[in-house]
Amino acid sequence: MANLIGLAVARSEKTGFDVREHGLQGYRGPRLVFYASGETHGWCRKAAELLGLGNSAYRRVAVGADYRIDVPALRTLIKSDRREGMRPFCVVGNAGTINTGATDDLRALARVCQEGGLWFHVDGAFGALAPLSEKLRSVVQGIEEADSLAFDLHKWMYLPFEVGCVLVRDAEAHVRTFAAKQDYFGDAERGVIGGGLPFAERGIELTRSFRALKVWMSLKAHGVAAYARLIEQNVAQASYLAELIGRERDMELLAPVALNVVCFRLRPRGVAEAELNALNKEALLRVQESGVAVPSSHGAGREVFDARGDYESSQPA
Ligand SMILES: *Cc1c(COP(=O)(O)O)cnc(C)c1O
Repeated sequence: MANLIGLAVARSEKTGFDVREHGLQGYRGPRLVFYASGETHGWCRKAAELLGLGNSAYRRVAVGADYRIDVPALRTLIKSDRREGMRPFCVVGNAGTINTGATDDLRALARVCQEGGLWFHVDGAFGALAPLSEKLRSVVQGIEEADSLAFDLHKWMYLPFEVGCVLVRDAEAHVRTFAAKQDYFGDAERGVIGGGLPFAERGIELTRSFRALKVWMSLKAHGVAAYARLIEQNVAQASYLAELIGRERDMELLAPVALNVVCFRLRPRGVAEAELNALNKEALLRVQESGVAVPSSHGAGREVFDARGDYESSQPA
């Protein structure tokens, strides 16, 4: 929802068309397109569809061996799309991808957006909270340049589901995208609806639950420093796990451990490459069913299991 809101503001601000009044049914301009790496979470496709842009408007940009967006490839694609008469309006960057925890070069993406007059949205579901830690701040540098930033407090703030959050730099652009005067609320300056921050004018929901209460209470009770410690601890756990896997003869890492995601697989000696997928899938399901832990697999058990080992090679796995 938070990411959808960010992309919705981008669509209403950067397409040069009153999309709120006419919808995309009334749009006769150049084809609207936006960019994100193929490693971006599934929200991106859903949002493209729900906003009437269509899945094909989401241009999947290649990633490098480190699973970060290939910035030169992005520039080339934007250029060729423009040449073909399309209208790029937004770039989505990742601060901690769902698959590998990779963070795109956010500074470079911000530059691409500035130069091209594009909206810069960042999916920081995990990564947006990294700057709470001095040590981790540099991992997501450039995040502060986003026009909109979405993140989840039910992840690294360990709050109960669900409490997503979006920050939009330009408050007026945010309200321009969603405000709709509702007669039944009137315009009272005073009384129960006077003042405050009408959230219905900043998102999709009208009546909504008081999700912010648990966030505020938790921050009051534990303080920001406690969260910084927990985040650092989690990143340390991930690198410790990577270190243990590195020492195992029959396991291998499949991606660099940039933040808190560790991608690995079993690779026992003597087992043929073609059998590794089935072996890993079975092991994964057994661990899940044992109730001990719930590791996940990338791409419904496809891509990671198919990945060919060496992430240090220049070819993306
Ligand atoms: C979890 C996650 C999402 C989706 O958030 P939900 O809380 O499942 O709605 C989007 N992007 C990334 C990178 C995530 O980790």
